[in-house]
Amino acid sequence: MTRVLLFLLAAPLWAQPFDLVINNAHMMDPASNLDGVRHIGVRGGRIAEISPIPLTAKIIIDAKGLIVAPGFIDLHSHGQTPENYRFKARDGVTTALEMEAGVNPVAAWYKERQGRSLINYGATSGDIPARMAVFHDSGKLLPRDKAIARAASAEELRQILDRITSGLNEGALGIGMGIAYLPYESRAEVFQIFQLAAGRHVPVYVHMRNGGPVEPGVIDALQEVIADATASGASLHIVHITSMGLRQTALCLAMIDGVRGRGLDVTTEAYPYTAGMTDLSSAIFSEGWQQRQGGIGFGDLQWAATGERLTAESFARYRKQGGFVAIHSIPEEIVKLAISHPNVMVASDGILDEGKGHPRAAGTYARVLGRYVREQHAVTLMDAIRKMSLLPANRIGLATKGRISIGADADITIFDPDRVIDRATFDKPAQYSEGIQYVLVNGTLVVDKGELAANVMPGRAVRR
Ligand SMILES: [Zn+2]
Repeated sequence: MTRVLLFLLAAPLWAQPFDLVINNAHMMDPASNLDGVRHIGVRGGRIAEISPIPLTAKIIIDAKGLIVAPGFIDLHSHGQTPENYRFKARDGVTTALEMEAGVNPVAAWYKERQGRSLINYGATSGDIPARMAVFHDSGKLLPRDKAIARAASAEELRQILDRITSGLNEGALGIGMGIAYLPYESRAEVFQIFQLAAGRHVPVYVHMRNGGPVEPGVIDALQEVIADATASGASLHIVHITSMGLRQTALCLAMIDGVRGRGLDVTTEAYPYTAGMTDLSSAIFSEGWQQRQGGIGFGDLQWAATGERLTAESFARYRKQGGFVAIHSIPEEIVKLAISHPNVMVASDGILDEGKGHPRAAGTYARVLGRYVREQHAVTLMDAIRKMSLLPANRIGLATKGRISIGADADITIFDPDRVIDRATFDKPAQYSEGIQYVLVNGTLVVDKGELAANVMPGRAVRR
């Protein structure tokens, strides 16, 4: 009798060999709200079993005392290089997407990363890069000369829309827009791009025309995109609401909650830092930037290459040269407000270039878990996980990511809730987060016992 029972219990273990199992997992799944101990079997890059009893395989992770969550999905990751992917993986991110600026041409961008990426990657078809190509602007990520010097002719606009459309045909995840970086992009042009998105049933991801308290500022900028989304029917995602809204962030969130309550598909995101970062040569720093940033001065700007605070003299010199600058403009209570709001997704907006940049590229996700969940109790652990995995997966319509369920992609982040914390700072941005113990991308370990795994490139394209 006992032998038969043992055989029955053991049979599924041998009948269903797994590639890898995670035993004794404190699983937290925001899709089902499951919050309890389970044992997870992974096979063929997918979650194959979620069991009440321990499982067996060649690779066994004992997750006792650790939280097992869906891998984090960063909707706003400008850093799309092996260097950036390493920092993302160590921060628990399994999918990094360039949705704000977007890319153009799209097919070539995906091809470059195929089989060579530590984590999953994807992008929108970008208005900015399309316009830069048509205008032969010399900027890299952002325009810096020809695309910001004049308006587009009718023929140039046609070429821009053609390029955006081609990108969608090549699998881009939506349309990326940075209206603030294109001072001559008219309201009519913006609406036409929204119409294009609506016709293709893809969202637009928008850095709005203006931010801050001085009109034209964040309120009228938000009204512009809400009106365009309403009139066109396009789904709308507004990037980094805190750096745009500043002290009016609560009002902005009330407006977004209001349109959502009326059935519109409008979402937003924030990063957990009190400073933004962008290119000093961009249109953001044209005349009047101090007022538009809520009343800051030269000393609130920090040159990323050296860490120095700027003066009127160094501002003028570096603006000609171009390069990343941190803008210390966001009050801490505004960061906390956005991170604790249940509908505001977490997204980094990060990029590291040979170790230089903003700490958000390396620390965003561990910072939310350590600082805002554990230390400040600003948000529950389940809600934080939801804002970092399920909500972004839903935004892009990925039914196989952002959840731990049978059949889902085995993108899984396992962390120590008592130790997880960011280590990256404005002075030293290239510091790995701590307490992220294991990260699986499509079933392959990319972080193992807190260290990067060697010689693995399991990242896959996320595309339409
Ligand atoms: Zn932006």
